Amino acid sequence: MTMPMSTFHDLTGQRFGRRVCQNCLRNIDHRAVQLAPMLLDEVWQQLAENPKDVLCVDCMFNRAAARKITLSLASLKPCPFNVSPWFNLFLGKESAPPANMDAWEAAMREDLMMRRQVELVLNYQQKAALR
Ligand SMILES: [Zn+2]
Repeated sequence: MTMPMSTFHDLTGQRFGRRVCQNCLRNIDHRAVQLAPMLLDEVWQQLAENPKDVLCVDCMFNRAAARKITLSLASLKPCPFNVSPWFNLFLGKESAPPANMDAWEAAMREDLMMRRQVELVLNYQQKAALR
């Protein structure tokens, strides 16, 4: 399995490219300013001016409220990026597990594998630094 570099950088907190929210112009730092979860294309089209737009989570929710779009677990793409923390946060507002739980379980397995790979790389880098 090849790991997309952007996901790798998100997981390690290391990013080479800077991302800026196109609405509030704050830097996405994955701490104080978080990237919005990945929404299904048909939901994202209602919030973004173009498909490649980048929004922080605050601006995503503000736009959704202004446009009277209700975001739920069913609005999210079942992908590794959305597993933590978004799946649990949105699931907390649902009364039943999502209909696409199989896809979420696959995303969770992929997320776990990527985290293990990152852990291995970080361990290797630490050991290399000690030599
Ligand atoms: Zn923003």
